[in-house]
Amino acid sequence: MKLDIKKLCCQVCGTQIPPGGIFYIGRTEIISGSDGFLPDTDKSSEEIIEKALHEIKAVKSEQELMEGIYQEIRIILCGQCRIRFRDKILDLVNY
Ligand SMILES: [Zn+2]
Repeated sequence: MKLDIKKLCCQVCGTQIPPGGIFYIGRTEIISGSDGFLPDTDKSSEEIIEKALHEIKAVKSEQELMEGIYQEIRIILCGQCRIRFRDKILDLVNY
């Protein structure tokens, strides 16, 4: 019986990865950061919680809310696109 193995392709250029061929997984995580600073406020804890709940309800969907906290992007890459992927990310860094 022949196995039906899905063909593996680079998701950037479409090059097919041959069986046993070298490929890469470009993975990027975007994680909500915090500097730990909490501004002084004269609001009560109830007011702060109410404001936070209002902000959460204003978000369109649970997925959008989660993506604001954590998002992972995974892309199958051939050898050439591995370098393109890396360089494009590093090109974003200006400071
Ligand atoms: Zn490629």
